[in-house]
This record gives sequence, structure tokens and C-alpha cells, in this order.
Amino acid sequence: MEVNLHRYLPFTTSEGPGKRACVWVQGCPIHCKGCGVPWTWNPRKGTPTSIEFLWEEILKSKQEHDIEGITFLGGEPFEQAEALAILAKRAQEIGLTVMTFSGYYKEQLAELNKPGWEALLAATDLFIDGPYEMDKPDKERPWIGSTNQRMHFLTDRYQSIKEDINAIPNRLEVYINSDGTIEANGMVPSDTWKRILKDL
Ligand code: SF4
Repeated sequence: MEVNLHRYLPFTTSEGPGKRACVWVQGCPIHCKGCGVPWTWNPRKGTPTSIEFLWEEILKSKQEHDIEGITFLGGEPFEQAEALAILAKRAQEIGLTVMTFSGYYKEQLAELNKPGWEALLAATDLFIDGPYEMDKPDKERPWIGSTNQRMHFLTDRYQSIKEDINAIPNRLEVYINSDGTIEANGMVPSDTWKRILKDL
């Protein structure tokens, strides 16, 4: 089984609690107005990547960076829930946490009944749901774009951060690759991001 991959980041502190590896999938049919990553929409782009290869990368991240978990982002993870659920289950079995984002609300997932959605939710500790709504920017909570989006603490793993979630700062990571291309991840207000791009 394969994941249509947009990007794998072996180590980040910007995409969820603590040190994590991050899997961005390619393909999102939701098309939120103001989406920060529209280049992840097209399902015909991306790199078909076997889950075995990705699993080896996650194990390497655990060994080399002592990650506490993995984060699935998009694109839309629930368009590829079957493959991601396998990775999520394996991750939990070796003690890693799983954080999953979706532009669909939890209730919609049940209606849509996409393959593997229940298995992916069952192997997720922290679930963020709902589309990005650009007229409702969230300036309080970390990792989240708009106030309509919800945080579901599905297991005990992150109950300890639930009450003080707003104290966790957002971070931005910028990578300048050897070929001169720039990649960034994390969350900052869009006007801050525009200012950074202008100065680069
Ligand atoms: S669900 Fe996420 S990736 Fe998809 S359009 Fe909305 S913000 Fe962009």
C-alpha cells in the first residue's frame, strides 16, 4: 500500500506537541478559501511512497531525533486514511503519539465513510478537525488556523496539556535547501509570514 506523499519531515517542533516527525499527504478536495498550502491540493502530484518506506523513516526519526510522535497533515489525510491508519497503529504500538489533522469535521467523516477513516481515528491521540475559515483566524491556540477548528483529545496521551493549551507557542521553521529552494512549516499569522518572505 502507498501514500501519495507531499513531504516527510523527520524532525519538527512546530507541528504538534514536543518533538515529532511529520507526514504531509498530497491531495485535498476541500479547497478552503485562503488555504496556506494550495500546492498540496492536486492528487495527481505528489510522490507515491510505500508505507514500508515511510515506516522505516519514522523508525529512523525515533532513533535519531527521539521523537515523541508523528503528525499527519495535508493535503487531506482522510483521503488516504487506510494507509495512514497502518502507520498510526504501528506508531502507537511502539509508544509514539499520533496527531491527525482533517479539513472534514468528525461528523462528516462518518457520513462520507471514506475507506479507513475509523481505523485512522482509532489510532489517533489528538485530532484537529474542520476546514480553514480565513475570516475566523485563531490567535490563541497553537497549530490551528481558525476558531471553527476543534481539538479532540481522543486518548489520555495529551490530557495533561489540554487545560493549558493556549500557553504553547506557535513556531515557524524555515529550511533553505542546498539548491536554494526554501521550505517552511509551522504556523504564524499570514501578515507575519508575508513580512518574512519579503525579507528573505
Ligand atoms: S483542508 Fe487543509 S489543505 Fe485542504 S484546503 Fe483546507 S486548509 Fe488547505
